Amino acid sequence: MYSHIIMLSSIPLKVKIMLINKFFYSLKILIQSPSSILILLYKYFQKYYILIISLFFKCNYHCNICNKRSVFFISDNWHKNIICPHCFSEIRHRLFFYSFKNNVHNLSLNGFKNKKIFHFAPENYLVNFFKKLSKNYFTADLHRSEYDYRIDISNMINIKNESLDCIIAIDVLEHVEKLENCLNEIKRTLKKDGIAIISVPQIDNLKKSVLFDTNIKSRDRKKIYGQADHSNLFGSDLEEIFKQFDFKVIIISSKMFKKEEVEKYTLKPKIYSNKKFATNDRKIFILYN
Ligand SMILES: [Zn+2]
Repeated sequence: MYSHIIMLSSIPLKVKIMLINKFFYSLKILIQSPSSILILLYKYFQKYYILIISLFFKCNYHCNICNKRSVFFISDNWHKNIICPHCFSEIRHRLFFYSFKNNVHNLSLNGFKNKKIFHFAPENYLVNFFKKLSKNYFTADLHRSEYDYRIDISNMINIKNESLDCIIAIDVLEHVEKLENCLNEIKRTLKKDGIAIISVPQIDNLKKSVLFDTNIKSRDRKKIYGQADHSNLFGSDLEEIFKQFDFKVIIISSKMFKKEEVEKYTLKPKIYSNKKFATNDRKIFILYN
């Protein structure tokens, strides 16, 4: 017991604060969505199950991020076989990488070299990749203090005008309450030739997005926005929303690529979901300032 107290006291204050923040953030998510812990456990169960059976059977699923193969991918609440069991990449990440690896619209992964990049809510398996590419790569998140910047994408205080080459925000904007402020901030902080790489859950047949409304109570969020911690439900008018903020928009979707490549890397679900809030056709939006 005494040795445990000594061990605890030897942890630096910054790390203690980080651990406490992490604990309360996890607790908040758990309270907002009690089933999330079960989903997470199921995800890990699937991961190890797939990794074990992949030792014995032919592996037809390829991941273009970690370059590993497996018999299946992990299934989630919406679709079967969509998450890589090795690195946990999802369709949106593989689509982003695939398009940049194939120089779609002259975009390339090498283009990130030594650029000043702000990556919001960063995915762990992408962080190391970008860190190797650029010494000016920074991670950012509103809730988590273990990243380089604890900052709100809707209010990037201390980030100078026209100072960033690239902002990456994959599955961030659906959580943002002040979307107008967020897009204005992206506009303000990007250099004149800077780009933002954005992806969000986007409902296939929803023509008009349902944006955050202060009159909507927290308990009704899941019913209206599809998830308890979401603040917007985006539809097919998202491109127009971006254009209203004077961005030139390029959209990347799996429809642009060869069927066999889409199949090989699972750049779209093999079977579309007909659940109410399902996103079947993921898109990556490139916003040019
Ligand atoms: Zn992978």
